[in-house]
Amino acid sequence: MKKKQFVVIGMGRFGSSIAQTLYELGFEVLAVDENEDKVQDVINVTTHAVQADCTDEEALKALGIRNFDVVVVAIGQDIQASILTTLMMKEMGAKQLIVKAQSELHGKVLTKIGADKVIFPERDMGVRVAHHLISPNIIDFIELSDDYSIVEITASTEMVGHTIKELDIRARFGCNVIAIRSNGKMNISPYADDVINEGDILIVVGNNEDLNKFEVSFS
Ligand code: ATP
Repeated sequence: MKKKQFVVIGMGRFGSSIAQTLYELGFEVLAVDENEDKVQDVINVTTHAVQADCTDEEALKALGIRNFDVVVVAIGQDIQASILTTLMMKEMGAKQLIVKAQSELHGKVLTKIGADKVIFPERDMGVRVAHHLISPNIIDFIELSDDYSIVEITASTEMVGHTIKELDIRARFGCNVIAIRSNGKMNISPYADDVINEGDILIVVGNNEDLNKFEVSFS
């Protein structure tokens, strides 16, 4: 299968981190910034890096957006530039458009003009850090919607040696253990009789309130 090709616009902290990580993972990445110094900073850690003002239609056309699978717009501070770039990317036929937002309102506008996914890096990271602070066992927290999430949690001492049935997670908290990672192996849809061992990681889905009770109870 052909590897996905990415364009990342805006080489601030967020954009350059995405571009470099994708490149290190072996994907083709075109990095774009209007600032020549920012372009130079990433020239060795991306496939191509070009200087262009993405609010300039001609400059955007020259990038050949249709040839890429995913476009990431990581312009933050300049909301007008972010919106204009997103709109033009959409009109030029970007297949999948991921855009960073500065605020809820900025995010709403981006969704309305056709962004496929809007990311709020500071807000989302704040949520993750807060969950980790409540319970250091929480490895990750992924919002599925406003009401539902998935948490990845290291088995606490109270869990070790017990089966999912004994812990009664569904009846007590209304949450479902959808997978257990044990010694690097994934056990998808575990059985009620599967025993939780030390170091296992549980992947649990549920309503946010129920998940919070579950997290606090096992922290
Ligand atoms: P971060 O928090 O990720 O560091 P930020 O949210 O502060 O970034 P900015 O610094 O405003 O975002 O923008 C990120 C990058 O986008 C900057 O390097 C800036 O030069 C670039 N940029 C801004 N406007 C444009 C534009 N019209 N075309 C191309 N690049 C742009």
